[in-house]
Amino acid sequence: MHESTAIAHLFEEPQEQHGAVNPPVYHASLFAFPDYETWKAHVAGQQSRPYVYHRGSNPTVRILEEKIAHLEHGADCVATASGMAAINLVLSALLQTGDHVLCVDTVYGPTRSALQSLYRRFGVETTFFPAEASQDLRPYLQDNTRLIFLESPSSGLFQIQDLRAVAALARERGIWTAIDNTWATPLYQKPLNLGLDLSVHSGTKYIAGHSDLLLGLVVGTQEAMRPVRRVYTLLGASLAPDDAYLALRGLRSLPIRLRQHETSALRIARWLQEHPEVVEVLHPGLESHPHHALHRSQCMGDSGLFSFRLRPRGEAARAAFVNSLRLFHLGYSWGGFESLLSPLAFSYYGNHELRRQLGLTDDHYRVSIGLEDPEDLLQDLAQALEIYRRSGEAP
Ligand SMILES: *Cc1c(COP(=O)(O)O)cnc(C)c1O
Repeated sequence: MHESTAIAHLFEEPQEQHGAVNPPVYHASLFAFPDYETWKAHVAGQQSRPYVYHRGSNPTVRILEEKIAHLEHGADCVATASGMAAINLVLSALLQTGDHVLCVDTVYGPTRSALQSLYRRFGVETTFFPAEASQDLRPYLQDNTRLIFLESPSSGLFQIQDLRAVAALARERGIWTAIDNTWATPLYQKPLNLGLDLSVHSGTKYIAGHSDLLLGLVVGTQEAMRPVRRVYTLLGASLAPDDAYLALRGLRSLPIRLRQHETSALRIARWLQEHPEVVEVLHPGLESHPHHALHRSQCMGDSGLFSFRLRPRGEAARAAFVNSLRLFHLGYSWGGFESLLSPLAFSYYGNHELRRQLGLTDDHYRVSIGLEDPEDLLQDLAQALEIYRRSGEAP
């Protein structure tokens, strides 16, 4: 069965819901036992009931989890109240005091902060490695390395890590592996097929797709999902049924939305590459991207988020450029129907050392290409870049 068909049909049983093809939203924190014997069999672990209390599971949420597990070929999936809840779920399920984590240095900012503050406080140390080192991480391994955390492509500089190489090394050494797979979505990259243990998503982005909810997802192998499931009910960061309903609604159109994001973003990235005000475009789907071949060998398509660097023309020109855009909203998120732009350096303002290491300047912008007509988006960028050129200092 093709994926769009699976999304439309699998794990939904309309005849169990009076024929309703759109599954009802179960606003239910509690699912009662029919009698003493059923309760006893459940408690004794002889015949466990699928729904007991929403913190563990809810029928509306479960449909979403089963669809994502199917799409990424995982043994199980859990949905959480946000992407960060999903990431913290993975970290707190797998790590303990004295452990060491290897994490890619271009990882999503709050993931980096969580490792550096929260997990360090509990006695977990992290080494951040450059994406180029992913082909051979042996020099970074310690005896207590417990987890390798990837984000490929990373969501600011679009650096690629070699998923097969990391998985092979980690398997050999008995180290867990997890990846933030948000950029590629469950449709375009299947990390479990390449040997990784866990894949994490901020479903807030493309899966929800309409900038109207927060959602996190963890999908993984049977072995890795066992500790994740156990900690899931302890953390209490379950997804609300209304948000599961909206996420299912978003998921149904993900295959067609993603194709549009992909073609529009590539068209705009190619156009920017030719523009005289643009120094560099970072999009892993472009042949000019330094890791394009590796990316193509492990990721089947491209989403609509990329970044570019303008010729430096000073602060006044930067303000004029951003303020003259009419269709691109100024904001941090991505993956929705609307196009967004964010000055990339903002994300790293508090960390000058990291900015320097990553080569980030104030002229670096990230764009999320939405579902508007790409010709309108190009025109908007063209007029804003013309204002940029005219209002700036000569480079
Ligand atoms: C947004 C984002 C997250 C966090 O997701 P939330 O739903 O906002 O908590 C994690 N990883 C990446 C790459 C993101 O862009």
